[in-house]
Amino acid sequence: MAHRASKVYVNGSLVSRNEATVSVFDHGFLYGDGIFEGIRVYEGRIFKLKEHLERLFMSAKAIMLTVPLSLEEMQEAVMETVRANGLPDAYIRLVVSRGPGDLGLDPLRCSRPTVIIIVEEISLYPQTVYQNGLELASVVVRRPAPDALNPAMKTLNYLNNILAKIEANQRGLVEVLMLNHEGWVVEASADNIFLVRRGEIVTPPTYVGILNGITRQVVIALATDAGYRVREENMTLFDVYNADEAFLTGTAAEMVPVARCDGRVIGDGQPGPITKDLIERFRIYAKGEGVLVPRLNAIQA
Ligand code: PMP
Repeated sequence: MAHRASKVYVNGSLVSRNEATVSVFDHGFLYGDGIFEGIRVYEGRIFKLKEHLERLFMSAKAIMLTVPLSLEEMQEAVMETVRANGLPDAYIRLVVSRGPGDLGLDPLRCSRPTVIIIVEEISLYPQTVYQNGLELASVVVRRPAPDALNPAMKTLNYLNNILAKIEANQRGLVEVLMLNHEGWVVEASADNIFLVRRGEIVTPPTYVGILNGITRQVVIALATDAGYRVREENMTLFDVYNADEAFLTGTAAEMVPVARCDGRVIGDGQPGPITKDLIERFRIYAKGEGVLVPRLNAIQA
């Protein structure tokens, strides 16, 4: 199943996996100059597609990259690629790079941005992580300050996150917690963090330097609707160690309970009641929401 006859969107054409290539002169490849989104498809519906596309266009604006498609055209291209792959449950990777240029840095030398849409089956963390909770560790590498490389921009320059992932690998962990240059807890290498303290839900504010996750925004809204008090507040590792519950959110991971951090047991070391309640609410919401891809099931062989 892994290498089924998938179709990849490359600059307006749907091509087979083997033909899906980009130039070695693409500044996305040479310099990580570009932006991307990761989006989920649940039961034939694309989850929060508009929100992901809006964030893509915000990242584009911040790096002065002109996306060669309008938001509506991009939405159509994503739907077409999902339909062509016939996967009702999938992960979409949407990439817009600066495009081919010369070997210098200058983005003005890149005349045609590259647009790629990949639709793949999703592989989540092992199920045990959702049942028993994840073990986290704080890492040495810091998330960049917003005035250096703002983590709010979802750019192809993910080396900071990869350095964190390397620390995770060395410790035998699947995810790690990152601090900013001032020592505030900001986010995990590819997920946002939430704590539960005396019945209240707390998450770092965007200005400390995080990606404002779409899942984060959904969880804040679902928790607020369910009557929980949610606050965006700076937190230190002390707060993480002493939380009653903690969980991560992200498109691929969805919601993951955290059981330990830096060897400290969080709460009683089991997914807590508020975490479990929100996970349930999220699952129900995710299945019912989203832009339906017309004729998707008709194409499934
Ligand atoms: N932070 C980082 C650094 C990320 O890469 C991601 C996306 N994987 C997230 C948070 C979560 O964002 P979203 O919920 O939009 O996937």
